[in-house]
Amino acid sequence: MSDANKSIHEFDFKLICEYFSNLERQGPGSPEATLKALSFIDNLANDSKIADLGCGTGGQTMVLARHAPGHITGIDLFADFIDIFNANSCKWNLQDRVSGIVGSMDNLPFQREELDLIWSEGAIYNMGFERGLKQWHGFLKRGGFIAVSEASWFTRERPAEIDAFWKDAYPEIDVISRKVEQMEKAGYIPVATFVLPENCWLANFYTPQISAQKKFLKKHAGNTAAEELVKNQRHEAHLYDKYKDFYGYVFYIGKKI
Ligand code: SAM
Repeated sequence: MSDANKSIHEFDFKLICEYFSNLERQGPGSPEATLKALSFIDNLANDSKIADLGCGTGGQTMVLARHAPGHITGIDLFADFIDIFNANSCKWNLQDRVSGIVGSMDNLPFQREELDLIWSEGAIYNMGFERGLKQWHGFLKRGGFIAVSEASWFTRERPAEIDAFWKDAYPEIDVISRKVEQMEKAGYIPVATFVLPENCWLANFYTPQISAQKKFLKKHAGNTAAEELVKNQRHEAHLYDKYKDFYGYVFYIGKKI
């Protein structure tokens, strides 16, 4: 990559962080879905150690922390998200047991079998579902839990337009039964799976983006990278509306054997 390209790329990256920093969530989800996933987990106590990987600004982490005992470490690649995460932790008066650190989900700062629970909403795709499940397994205690949400097909066949979109965006997207099989093969008992309801995408993710996009475009008027970013987000929202019978996010909850 030439230096010129690199600087354009870094600029885009800053814009992406800014765009998503203005939203409470950086991916589809809801407090109800977080709590439903938590309801399958029965091993937590005040001294439990929990990691939320790809935590973003911590929308789901604060919900988790307010309803589960233990200490939570949020990890995200982007320092701006972690700054907001730690401010949110203080806002909820959770700073004694919820802290965010900058780091990568494929190079975790934990000991073998240190964690009681690994949480990751809409983020394991950054490593790939199968690879993430296998790699994170070693950090969990025996009997520890993993709870991740992941883009999944609802049907074995689907229209060509949406098939092509996802094959390009995330070729590892697959049907739920195949994801459950991957979880078993990685050494977990599949405890539960459930489909995230539409409001996780619409009311909690795409709708808040409408006003955020207007402000963002006003601030970056004439910036083609910012316009392109908003155009892509609007296209994604349009595809979801058109094809939501064929795909969505699914929560997968597993227990380490
Ligand atoms: N969990 C949050 C939520 O549901 O709102 C954020 C989901 S967002 C779709 C994916 C997150 O993964 C982003 O915050 C991004 O910065 C983070 N991320 C991407 N690659 C990562 C990596 N290698 N290690 C840690 N975090 C990463």
